[in-house]
Amino acid sequence: MPKSPPAGAAIVITGGETDDRRKAAAALRQAGFAPVEGAAGGPLAATLSGDDQFREEAPVWRDDAAAEVAAATLEQPAALILFNLDHFKRVRAVVGSEIARRLLKEAFARVEDCLKAHDASRGRRGKRRGQVRHVDGDEFCVLMPRLDHSEEAAEFAHAALVAIGRPYEKIAPQVFLTGRAGITLAPHHSRDVDTLFRMVASIVHHESRQGRNTVRVYAPGAVAIAAERFELEAELSRAVRAGELEVHYQPQLCIATNRLVGAEALVRWRRAGIGSVPAEVFIAVAEDLGLIAELGSWVLGTAARQIESWRKAGLPSVRIAINTSAYQFRRLDMVDVVVDALKKTDVAAEFLMLEVTESLVLSEVERTLDALRRLQEMGIKIALDDFGTGYSSLSYLKSFALDCLKIDLSFVRGLPQDAGDVAVTEAIIRMAKALNLEVIAEGVEREEQRACLAALGCDYYQGFLIARPMPADAFGQLLGRGLMVE
Ligand code: C2E
Ligand code: MG
Ligand code: MG
Repeated sequence: MPKSPPAGAAIVITGGETDDRRKAAAALRQAGFAPVEGAAGGPLAATLSGDDQFREEAPVWRDDAAAEVAAATLEQPAALILFNLDHFKRVRAVVGSEIARRLLKEAFARVEDCLKAHDASRGRRGKRRGQVRHVDGDEFCVLMPRLDHSEEAAEFAHAALVAIGRPYEKIAPQVFLTGRAGITLAPHHSRDVDTLFRMVASIVHHESRQGRNTVRVYAPGAVAIAAERFELEAELSRAVRAGELEVHYQPQLCIATNRLVGAEALVRWRRAGIGSVPAEVFIAVAEDLGLIAELGSWVLGTAARQIESWRKAGLPSVRIAINTSAYQFRRLDMVDVVVDALKKTDVAAEFLMLEVTESLVLSEVERTLDALRRLQEMGIKIALDDFGTGYSSLSYLKSFALDCLKIDLSFVRGLPQDAGDVAVTEAIIRMAKALNLEVIAEGVEREEQRACLAALGCDYYQGFLIARPMPADAFGQLLGRGLMVE
């Protein structure tokens, strides 16, 4: 039941926070819960210095929650609800930490008021009333014990999200907040409070990309997502090891001439009996499980072998871009991994491009910068993917070994009608030129978008307008027809 954000907002915050999932582990620990397996490790996003009072109470609250959850029955279920504010880090960067702290307090108070009003409307007192706790910087957790029916939890969560979305006139009139809520029920989903928390954190953190600026409630049915995810984890481990993944290739063209210049390699997973799983979903799972290093090295090796086999078949060589996750750089020596893949296949470095994301640039800066510099010296091209959706700090761009910026499809979507998207795209292209970087636009679906990008001076593009990502054979056929694409 998505609702639009309130009208009249002056700051519109868009984009996904790629490190959201990592926060789950910290949040759980701070609230006195057991850590999420596999999600720990790696630097945690900076959290707002919330009220310590909440934290001190957390272990006690956990015991209370555990008792309520264990006592829940199908007739009188308990709900554990996790609220997460969207893009709060960015809000804080804009308004400063003092205002951000007040905004959080106010949002918390609104959730609490909603809960009180909900309980009052049902005549609940004492132990039957719900409780709210501040879990982590921008997250609140609510326990609703002994509900009359499970839909009550969704009703309350929705009301609370609407309340969070109201203007904060006295604190920061220019800001509006949006959030997401995940709901789990005892005994339906588990009788164990730690398991419920794990599920609810997985629902909320999992949706970080799609959940932008929307008010969403994951009602009981959606909890299937969490259960499904546990199954997905086991299946993915097996699939990666059994080699059931596949790499598809999406053509990249020169915008002025329509000449084929390369392709982006995108991993695909077709689950037996279920069908294809979206890459974003299983990449996130692989990151949490620590499988991403293995998966990433496999994609790189597969693409390198493919480049080699196209070359051996007498087809023209083009540059293939490989997506990487910040985790790969953290866990592995990426220079070694890349050198190894190139050596095994005899592919020249110039035919390889690595796509990295802004979250990588901001984590472990020195080590990353060094690895990227060495890769670039070897002749490998480095592209910054999803540019403009992550963090607003641009200062890293000049010190960072980069060859190319990729304009995120969320900006391309609104071209040429949306003046804001045109302005952002134009600014990105101009900045890229000033820094001597190539620009690739992704997600180009319509001719008018391509024409607009061409007029703004973009160099290359990819998107459904030309072709969807395709199996290696199909891309080989495309190469076989020469590099001019009609
Ligand atoms: P990305 O790197 O930004 O990839 C672009 C996504 O946009 C791809 O989704 C692609 O299929 C999709 N796309 C391409 N053209 C269009 C278009 O015209 N319209 C629209 N609406 N979408 C278009 P996909 O393949 O589902 O991948 C999603 C994300 O998963 C990727 O975003 C990337 O971040 C990640 N990913 C994919 N493969 C890998 C991989 O091998 N390793 C890592 N670490 N991440 C990967
Ligand atoms: Mg990419
Ligand atoms: Mg992208």
